[in-house]
Amino acid sequence: MTGKVHMSQQAMEEIKQLLGPRGWLEGEDIATYTADIRGAYKGEAMLVARPASTEEVSEVVKICRRHGVCIVPQSGNTGLVGGGVPKGNRPTIILSVARMNKLLSVDPLRYSVTAEAGCIVQTIHDAAAEVDRAFSLDWGARGSAMIGGAISTNAGGMNVLRFGNTRDQVLGLEVVLPDGRIWNGMRALRKDSSGYDLKHLFIGAEGTLGIVTKAVMRLHPRPQRDQTMFAAVADADRLMELFALARAVASDGLTAFELVPGYMVEKALAKYDTLRRPLETKAEWYVMVRFSGREEIDTKFEMFFEQAMEKELITDASLAQNMAQEQNLWDLRDEIPPLKLMEGKMLKWDASVPIDRIIPFLKEAEAKSKAIEPNAKLIAFGHVGDGNLHMSVWPEGTPGDTQFDALCKKIVSTVDDLIFSYGGSICAEHGVGVENFDRVTAQKSDLEFEMMANIKRLFDPDNLMNPGKVFDPQKYPALSGDDDILPGQGWAGQVK
Ligand SMILES: Cc1cc2nc3c(=O)[nH]c(=O)nc-3n(C[C@H](O)[C@H](O)[C@H](O)COP(=O)(O)OP(=O)(O)OC[C@H]3O[C@@H](n4cnc5c(N)ncnc54)[C@H](O)[C@@H]3O)c2cc1C
Repeated sequence: MTGKVHMSQQAMEEIKQLLGPRGWLEGEDIATYTADIRGAYKGEAMLVARPASTEEVSEVVKICRRHGVCIVPQSGNTGLVGGGVPKGNRPTIILSVARMNKLLSVDPLRYSVTAEAGCIVQTIHDAAAEVDRAFSLDWGARGSAMIGGAISTNAGGMNVLRFGNTRDQVLGLEVVLPDGRIWNGMRALRKDSSGYDLKHLFIGAEGTLGIVTKAVMRLHPRPQRDQTMFAAVADADRLMELFALARAVASDGLTAFELVPGYMVEKALAKYDTLRRPLETKAEWYVMVRFSGREEIDTKFEMFFEQAMEKELITDASLAQNMAQEQNLWDLRDEIPPLKLMEGKMLKWDASVPIDRIIPFLKEAEAKSKAIEPNAKLIAFGHVGDGNLHMSVWPEGTPGDTQFDALCKKIVSTVDDLIFSYGGSICAEHGVGVENFDRVTAQKSDLEFEMMANIKRLFDPDNLMNPGKVFDPQKYPALSGDDDILPGQGWAGQVK
């Protein structure tokens, strides 16, 4: 037995003893933790630690640090970029916060909730509604994603247009640092200009700087009504005119503006017989426009519909008339992501570009993809109101075939370059994880990466926290999660 293996086994024994029989899993029981939700990423872990409190998290981290064991924090494991799955060949545990799932308090007067990191996003929605408040974070995985994961990926979703993304909802954080100390940043003040606001470092850090254990999240006044219109777009080139009209009519009451491709609507309706067709008129593109507020919503929708028809921005529309119709529209929206509806090789982007350039961008992306593979199909949908498109290209061919793989690579780099040329991002939501670390290198300057790497070194000099994520291992081998360059040996040359 080598010294390294012996040390990590010693660490496992200490963790088991600390957490007791309910506090850890290993062997076959950890299969759902070591792979991501799509089965696209798999890794290896010696054990899954399931602490029940911040203090236990802190003790686990101290044990791991003492024995040089890496830690991959995990919440709901719904992340789509492989960030929550171990990578590299160093001894690693997954630290799941799933048992730390309590909603600690709901404060309607402060418009805030305090929750443990493992609290499910939907639980916060339900608790907020009970005190006549609204929680804004909302996306398809709301029933299993947890607040610790949402914070660590700076998740977006359906309501960013009106309320901003997760970063804008976080008022305070508690974090266990890579050396095991507990940082209490739960002050949760709306105004505090007393120096660096450190919570922002951990939001979107994807578990590379510490483990989020608690959070105070912002609530909002609960709109009396949310109502959604499903409209057939007349001319995609004028989509932004339609968006501007919705904004002009509803102002802050415009809470969602989602682009939905007709092709995927047909596929979703064909696959799921629980979904109802919202509109008989067929179109290449639809939009889902949600207004939130009080009684005047009806008048606003009337104005919006009349003006949009008059200006020939839409050809037809239907307005959800009751809860069931409203739910049907959003269920349809949840089923649009192509993974469940398409077959073949998916090349995907979670892109954001300036909102007025979305349609020119989409056209150019399609043309460039087709120039490489004429049968490639481009599918895009998403939160157009905040410039974010979930976009995928489906080339025809057999994965594993050298020529096809090269062609896929070419499409990805061509579209990435196009996104950069539009001043956009390839990681609008979801984070970098392992899926995007090599591609994101071209999006940021060397100076930006240098600052990021210096922050990482300051917090986590041994690179124990989620190694191999966010940073491109080609550029920063010491952060790769492999032990051929050990922390401390590679840093100096890589970080100025
Ligand atoms: C159907 C579906 C729809 C989705 N739609 C959207 C969408 O519209 N917008 C969007 O932004 N995302 C979306 N996602 C992605 C995903 O739900 C979010 O990224 C979510 O925030 C991840 O939460 P989680 O609890 O599952 O985190 P996990 O997947 O467990 O972890 C995500 C990352 O955060 C780190 N992490 C987790 N917990 C902690 C912690 N306590 N402390 C420190 N680091 C931690 C992990 O190491 C990993 O890097 C969708 C996913 C699915 C399956």
